[in-house]
Amino acid sequence: MTTFKGGAVPRVGITGGIGSGKTMVCRIFQETLGIPVFNADIRAKELINSDPELRRGIVAIFGAQAYDETGQYHRAYVASIAFSQPEKLAALNALVHPAVEKASLEWHMEQIRAGAAYTLKEAALLVESGSHKHLDFMIVVSAPEDVRVQRVMQRDGLSEDQVRSRMRGQLPESEKLALADFVILNDGNHLLLPQIWHIHQQITAKLQS
Ligand code: ATP
Repeated sequence: MTTFKGGAVPRVGITGGIGSGKTMVCRIFQETLGIPVFNADIRAKELINSDPELRRGIVAIFGAQAYDETGQYHRAYVASIAFSQPEKLAALNALVHPAVEKASLEWHMEQIRAGAAYTLKEAALLVESGSHKHLDFMIVVSAPEDVRVQRVMQRDGLSEDQVRSRMRGQLPESEKLALADFVILNDGNHLLLPQIWHIHQQITAKLQS
């Protein structure tokens, strides 16, 4: 029987640039095919608030103001410092990424026990964080940059400059595509469901080999 980095069943990563449609694609995997999805960005936000070790580390880097008087993470404050001091951003990432990886692996093991055929880990910075190295396969959701900009402007009510500035914090799509095992083209002209079904078939075929 094939064994995977994720043990008995594969861990599959899903990434793509801002506005590529990762969340939309994951919803289809989850709701249509019953594949469980771990959203690394959501989990990171939860852990930053709830994990005492992470809180201590963040306060050591950014000071007590990193959390407000109610104990909630002061995201805008931390972002304003991290934006201008790259070494602090690197230190923050060095704390958060391993904590999320640990949570994601524990979650994956639970899903195996619950009978999952494989699991999906959705992360905007899957490659940037290095966590793709712990995964068996990587799916990249691809869409032209201008389409992505328009989608995020509409979804988040941001200006074009704001979206493009966020994009500059991510690797170019071409570098992610070079590492992809599977690509989903979500440009608005290609149907998602047949592409997702084809990838699902290829992953499940590997379970039998
Ligand atoms: P982020 O990295 O910012 O979290 P994402 O890659 O998860 O983004 P989504 O949130 O899934 O992207 O999609 C971005 C926006 O574009 C959403 O409002 C979504 O509804 C819309 N969208 C995604 N794909 C399509 C599509 N094929 N047709 C129309 N709208 C789409």
